[in-house]
Amino acid sequence: MCESHGAAAEDALIARRGILKIAIAATAGLAVSPPALAASAKAPPKPENILSPDSALDRLMKGNARYIEGVSRRHDFKHEREPLSKGQNPFAAILSCADSRIAPEYCFDTARGDVFVCRVAGNFAGDEIVASLEYAIQVLNTPLIMVLGHEACGAVDATIKSTKDGTTLPGHLPALVTALTPAVDAAQGMSGDLLANATLRNVIMNVERLKGLPPILKAAADNKKIRVVGGIYKLATGRVELVT
Ligand SMILES: [Zn+2]
Repeated sequence: MCESHGAAAEDALIARRGILKIAIAATAGLAVSPPALAASAKAPPKPENILSPDSALDRLMKGNARYIEGVSRRHDFKHEREPLSKGQNPFAAILSCADSRIAPEYCFDTARGDVFVCRVAGNFAGDEIVASLEYAIQVLNTPLIMVLGHEACGAVDATIKSTKDGTTLPGHLPALVTALTPAVDAAQGMSGDLLANATLRNVIMNVERLKGLPPILKAAADNKKIRVVGGIYKLATGRVELVT
């Protein structure tokens, strides 16, 4: 009985070792690009997306100009499915607010496989967002990150009101307030509209945070492998105004 118990324990130990090996392999693979991803980097599904940081920004802004004018291109969603099933090489990563009126794929007139979009109310870079952007830069070789704020942001406005009134919002909403308070504090005392100033400060602060965040993003920014820029989406016109 004792022998049988010992065998079971050994089996469990071997199984655990196996899981550990897989976990280590997966982690190492992310850092150095696993074979499947390396292959996709050799033959990217969208060769036109291999761009310098400046060209990537130029392409985004040209797409925004088409969107503003109402002359967005017709995207062939059917025929792009097969090549995109093999991989992805987006030319820009966008950290956007979750606000339903902001739609990065539309406002830059892009198709699937073009933009790697991370969204959270208040467009701030928490740990999961940072990790997602690191994946885009390190594994997908995306050359550009844009932090995209917008006019009349409810998350920034709620933070202003909560700070001013000293109230605590219900549920998990205080997490947003905590993340956005530094930008609201920085905008206090500035001339002009507090909401607009805080929204702008939030974009600028997150651009600076991403550019200076080691090891992956800072190294990529320092080596000019990527650019990190900020924009504000204007609700009435659809225009994205670059602010950094
Ligand atoms: Zn918002």
